[in-house]
Amino acid sequence: MQVYADNAATTQISRVALEAMMPCFETYYGNPSSLHSIGQEAKELLEDARQRVAACLGCEAREIYFTSGGSEADNQAILSAARYGARRGKKHIISTAFEHHAVLHTLQKLEKEGFEVTLLDVRQGHNITAQQVHDAIREDTCLVTCMYANNEIGSILPIAQIGEVCKDAGVPFHTDAVQAAGHLHIDVKAQNIDLLSLSAHKFHGPKGVGALYARRGFPLVNVIDGGAQERGKRAGTENLPAIRGMAAALEDACANMEENMGRVRAMRDKLIAGLSRIPHCDLNGDRENRLPGNVSFCFEGIEGESLLLLLDMKGVCASSGSACTSGSLDPSHVLLAIGRVHDVAHGSLRLSISEYNTDEEMDHILTVVPQVVQQLRNMSPVWRDLQTGKREFIL
Ligand SMILES: *Cc1c(COP(=O)(O)O)cnc(C)c1O
Repeated sequence: MQVYADNAATTQISRVALEAMMPCFETYYGNPSSLHSIGQEAKELLEDARQRVAACLGCEAREIYFTSGGSEADNQAILSAARYGARRGKKHIISTAFEHHAVLHTLQKLEKEGFEVTLLDVRQGHNITAQQVHDAIREDTCLVTCMYANNEIGSILPIAQIGEVCKDAGVPFHTDAVQAAGHLHIDVKAQNIDLLSLSAHKFHGPKGVGALYARRGFPLVNVIDGGAQERGKRAGTENLPAIRGMAAALEDACANMEENMGRVRAMRDKLIAGLSRIPHCDLNGDRENRLPGNVSFCFEGIEGESLLLLLDMKGVCASSGSACTSGSLDPSHVLLAIGRVHDVAHGSLRLSISEYNTDEEMDHILTVVPQVVQQLRNMSPVWRDLQTGKREFIL
């Protein structure tokens, strides 16, 4: 058995999305900017896709800009709000300590340009409150950017309340909704969201395509300069197949959200209950307000990397927060932000499931993970020190 439990990294494309894409390769291959009939047919399909994406978010079609994915949408949203703020003498931005790097690295770039960034503490309940946002807002705040839901630990932020705080203070509000779109109900108007990013490959759409919602009249700056596509705000010939695939996938996800997420939530709760029985482990992320497909644990006395390799050998494709990228052994900034110490953060495991998973697969995970954790602990010098009392348990 092979179980794919890494849906927060990317998802398998759906049949619906694939079928929406194929005609764009074979028949509607025109450039939407061309004036002839083949171009204009493509243009119609493009605008139809825009309308569909907008309907899923509760906004107007002209408020949707297609991008190359979530990262580009995050960059454009934040840079736009920053430039607009700077013109009015406002150079303070509020965000959280557990944002995706697409947000954090953009903020770091702005800091080098003289912006001041406040990152809200996420240790309490592995989440933030709207009150924290309220208390951090200053006269010179030009943007609040808080993710809708965290990709590593699954916490869902109080978006509607944050939106209200921002509206009352007259501060633009951006949310990176890459993990939420297609999984949670979004209504940008009711939630007072000014800017929102999403990415198709996180909801069974194709990779390399996403969207930025920007409230009508919001002054966007270009990240990609060139032609006049996307109302002059994002140059480059539109990736019509991907855009059609994204619209179909989002529509499908939203139409079946309640049923799919109900099933996914039940599988998630079964995993959390089963894995909690492993000694000296702890759940990461908000216990109540949690993405339907997210399971994230820290296990004391093991290394996340070895856990992943052994799990893969036993047919479970998962992820760890402690990716030792380019030789550095830094654990995930998200796990450190919620207050995990380095040793504990290194023993992390994220299982992210979707409606494509089955109950049998959950049973397989529940058999294999405790075995592999025990196997690794038996070989671990750290675990031996914990057992003999030379080192104290944290979890
Ligand atoms: C995946 C992800 C992104 C990046 O999206 P891409 O389309 O891969 O660029 C941004 N934010 C969050 C929360 C994500 O999970």
